Amino acid sequence: MTPTATPAALALWELVRTGVHVRFGPLSLSWQNAGVDLRQCQDAAAADGSLRSVDTPDLRALAQLDALGRFRPNKAAVQTGSARAVSWQEFADRQRGMYRHVSSLLEPEAEQVARAGCHPGCCLRRRLWKVGERECEAPAEKTMVPCLEPCALVLELARREQKASASDERAQVTLNQGELALLDRLFDLAIGTGDPLLREGDLGDPLNPRRVLMLREKLLPWLPMREWTRPG
Ligand code: SF4
Repeated sequence: MTPTATPAALALWELVRTGVHVRFGPLSLSWQNAGVDLRQCQDAAAADGSLRSVDTPDLRALAQLDALGRFRPNKAAVQTGSARAVSWQEFADRQRGMYRHVSSLLEPEAEQVARAGCHPGCCLRRRLWKVGERECEAPAEKTMVPCLEPCALVLELARREQKASASDERAQVTLNQGELALLDRLFDLAIGTGDPLLREGDLGDPLNPRRVLMLREKLLPWLPMREWTRPG
């Protein structure tokens, strides 16, 4: 099979060849010794000898698993050019089987799912798809890697949310400002220092960061710290 390169990949290649150091999602690309040096952003300044070299044919296998051997559910390829972002409702309306009810989520609920599921603490791709006429993510919040439609993780989060909202089990609590501030802190801890063994796609675990963020979204109007900052 003859390898082909998309116009977007060629444009990226040309940009790197000019000597520009490009950050692309979690990857850092630079031109070194007549080739592209590709590494994770956190290794951008690491000495060459301290890193393991990987041959190009082995990259696909490497992308399948993370450092702990867990499957990476969210490694979708970049799409550009004529591709357009799909709205949440259009995406939800075409779901079938166990996901067929996600289209019944109200717009504010779907927006909460999008904000929690695509939170910068969970995903570096920039969400270009929208819920209704609401704004998509600002360029400053994410990397230049675009996301044109909800992924499987967000879809599963939406399914869980729809199921929960259809249930009539409800409880009411009253919290004072100090308790809300404590809750805020607990959210930060759960998001920033989560269990490293927890699989990203395991949304059945209540401590999955996207589940925690979903709860946080619902309480956001009452929380003192409305903006989350990435741990340093
Ligand atoms: S839908 Fe959200 S979480 Fe999924 S890849 Fe796109 S931006 Fe990331």
